[in-house]
Amino acid sequence: MQRRQFLKFSAATAAANLVGCQLPATTDTQHDGLPSAVHWRELSEQLTGSVLRPSANDFERQKKAANARYDDITTAAIIQCATTSDVQLAIHFVVQYQLPFAVRSGGHSYTGLSSTSGVLIDIGPLNQVHLKDDIASIGAGAKLGDVYAILGQQQRSIPAGSCASVGIAGLVLGGGLGIADRRFGLTCDALRRVELVTASGDILYCSASEHPELFWALRGGGGGQFGIATQFEFATFATAPVRNYIGRYPLQEGNKVLEKWQQWLKSLPGEIWTQATVWFNGQPTSQPEIQLRACSIGHPDLLSDYWHQLEHQLRGIWSEVDMQDHHYLDFMLSDCAGMEMPECKLPNQHERGQLKRVAMAGSSDIFNEYLPLSALHHLLNAIRKRHQQGFRGGLMLTSMGGAIAKVQQSESAFAHRQAVLSAQYLFSGPVGTPEAMVQEGAMWVNQMRKQMRPWSTNGAYLNYTDALLKDWPQAYYGDNYVALQQLKRQYDPGNVFRFAQSIRPA
Ligand SMILES: Cc1cc2nc3c(=O)[nH]c(=O)nc-3n(C[C@H](O)[C@H](O)[C@H](O)COP(=O)(O)OP(=O)(O)OC[C@H]3O[C@@H](n4cnc5c(N)ncnc54)[C@H](O)[C@@H]3O)c2cc1C
Repeated sequence: MQRRQFLKFSAATAAANLVGCQLPATTDTQHDGLPSAVHWRELSEQLTGSVLRPSANDFERQKKAANARYDDITTAAIIQCATTSDVQLAIHFVVQYQLPFAVRSGGHSYTGLSSTSGVLIDIGPLNQVHLKDDIASIGAGAKLGDVYAILGQQQRSIPAGSCASVGIAGLVLGGGLGIADRRFGLTCDALRRVELVTASGDILYCSASEHPELFWALRGGGGGQFGIATQFEFATFATAPVRNYIGRYPLQEGNKVLEKWQQWLKSLPGEIWTQATVWFNGQPTSQPEIQLRACSIGHPDLLSDYWHQLEHQLRGIWSEVDMQDHHYLDFMLSDCAGMEMPECKLPNQHERGQLKRVAMAGSSDIFNEYLPLSALHHLLNAIRKRHQQGFRGGLMLTSMGGAIAKVQQSESAFAHRQAVLSAQYLFSGPVGTPEAMVQEGAMWVNQMRKQMRPWSTNGAYLNYTDALLKDWPQAYYGDNYVALQQLKRQYDPGNVFRFAQSIRPA
């Protein structure tokens, strides 16, 4: 690839709000030429991992991310890193030749932040998971499915998300929500230590006692901001069977269902996690419903007692309720029932991967107060209208609070400690959905935020990135943004790790 082409791709990438890291204005390693085949070969020989060029078998499969929206991006090369020193070499290489690049762990960035027309630094092979003295050491390329499977063999786990193919790195660096968060905190609250390779190629260890200010930033400050994480250490918890209730209610009764659900949620102990979802497909023949879920890790009787109170509150409304008890591991890997671990991946993550990719866009809201009836009315009307207009999409209202709120606001860069609810507005279509349709969906989800502004904090969860957010520093980081900018100046003064919504050095 010629530099002109490279730069053209780079500009197109930036315009599409994707990652496209530029280099510092001054560096003592600037070169005029692009790397030749010899340079690539030399790099490849030094790596424990490998370099894939577009002519390589399987290149097309491996360059794809979770979101099929970015399938058409033409990637120049993939550097697959299997060790920390591979990551140092990769950073050195892209800096030396001034190549645009993106970093990928699980590839689930909503807005394609781990897709690039430049060099993809893929941490996927750095995926070992070990448990010693209840502390889990997890390679930054590990996927949640592997984390759950390996720790689960020893009846331990970490609080994290529900989708097996999501990468631990992106998840924990942005916070990490999941069914265990009200009980055990966010994924980043369980983090004890991070090994990080900075833009200068240095390896830093960050913990409560080593670079504590950077450790603060790595817990909620977001992926790809301060360097490439290579290894994490987490405190783990003992697993227990999961009791799970699912109740289905007609959307016409939505205001009452959500009003009662919120009243119930106010009284819930941290042992119980709950979520309300609506999925709609725009088909005139389908009647969307509200699904209420509640689950607990252990404490089955406590959950049942509370659930029966909710059912009592909702009596008179048609419903269909299902309760099941699951082994913890089966529950966390429920997307992968009957699959072997290599199959419990996206096809781009493993040649045997069988999980489904989609083309999607999302946006989120943070609420520090429960939603009054007027807000619910507004929210559900917007959903009904969208369905009636023939569009597909989804809404998720998820409980926060519990252990999340017990961590002081100042203890980590995660900005939404006082939230009682998060909302997610989603567009999702099959692979091959035309970009114009996904773009329209992206505008709708972003509009939903604006419509709910009278009741929201204006906050947004940065792991549900929305490229159309204009006030993203405030939305993602709130008052933490200034401190993050100062740390950016300290640890990445040349702004090597840069993309459309990256922290700007102060
Ligand atoms: C299907 C699906 C389900 C999800 N479920 C949940 C959920 O239950 N809970 C939740 O909190 N979130 C959830 N998310 C959001 C998810 O947390 C974010 O998309 C997260 O960024 C994904 O991390 P990743 O490593 O898979 O993605 P990637 O796209 O690989 O990375 C995300 C960002 O982190 C950077 N990054 C990746 N690896 C590194 C590294 N080693 N060092 C530094 N930066 C790095 C990337 O450059 C990018 O900017 C979900 C997303 C999807 C698509």
